[in-house]
Amino acid sequence: MRKTIVAGNWKMNKTNAEAVETLKKLAELTKDIDGVEIVIGAPFTALSDAVKAVEGSKIKIAAQNMNPNEKGAFTGEISPLMLNAIGVKYVILGHSERREYYGETNEFINSKVKTALAHDLTPILCVGEKLEDREANKTEAVVEDHVKGGLKDLTKEEAKKVVIAYEPVWAIGTGKTASPEQAQEVHKFIRNLLTDMYGEEIANEITIQYGGSMKPENAKELMSQKDIDGGLVGGASLEADSFAKVVKAG
Ligand code: 13P
Repeated sequence: MRKTIVAGNWKMNKTNAEAVETLKKLAELTKDIDGVEIVIGAPFTALSDAVKAVEGSKIKIAAQNMNPNEKGAFTGEISPLMLNAIGVKYVILGHSERREYYGETNEFINSKVKTALAHDLTPILCVGEKLEDREANKTEAVVEDHVKGGLKDLTKEEAKKVVIAYEPVWAIGTGKTASPEQAQEVHKFIRNLLTDMYGEEIANEITIQYGGSMKPENAKELMSQKDIDGGLVGGASLEADSFAKVVKAG
C-alpha cells in the first residue's frame, strides 16, 4: 500500500540556526506519530545541519532543487552527489515557482527526476495548473503534460519510486485551497493517467500529495480523500506547532 507523506517546503526561509531550532522542536512534537512519513525541504545552506538535527527522529530532509549533472562547470548549482554525501533523502523538483521564475521546462525537470532516481534520492515531482488554465478548462491537459513530461522514459520500477505533488498554482500562498472535491478530482485524474502509463498495481503504489494553502484547519478533510496521500505544505510548515498538526491529520 502506498505511503502517506507529509512534507514541508520551507522555500527561501530560515537561516541555518532557525532551521535547526524548528527541526528540533518538530522532532519532539512528532515523536509519537506513526504511519506518516515526515519530510522537510530546507534551504541548501541549512541542509547539512538539518540532517544532523533530525538524527534519531522520524523526519527526513529534502532539498528544494538539484542539478541533473554530477559535477562540473555549473556555477551556483548543487549536485546529487553533494546531497547524498550529507544524508539528504528527498528532492523537490519542478515546483511551480521554479517553472515560473527560472524557466524550468518539463525536459529539464525530467532529467533531474532521472538523476535523482539514479542517486537514491526520492523525487517529489510538482505538477499543477495556473488559474488561467483552470478558467480555460485546461486543468487536465496541463497536469497531463506535467506528469508525462516529468516522468518521460522512466521504467515502471523507477516510476514507482516517484512522489507526485499536485499543487494548483492558484492555491499556493493565496489562502485559497482547492476544495477536497476539486483536489480529489484531479488526484483521481492523475491516478488514472498513471494507470494508463504503468498499470494499476504501480499506479496504486505512487503517493500523490496535495499542496496549496494546506493548514491544520483543512488538512484532515483533504487527506481523507481517496487519492490524496499526504501534503506538500509551504507557509504552514514554517512553525513546528502548525506543521505537527498537519502531520497528525495525515
Ligand atoms: P503554501 O502552503 O504556502 O500555499 O505553499 C504550497 C507550496 O508551494 C508547497 O510547495
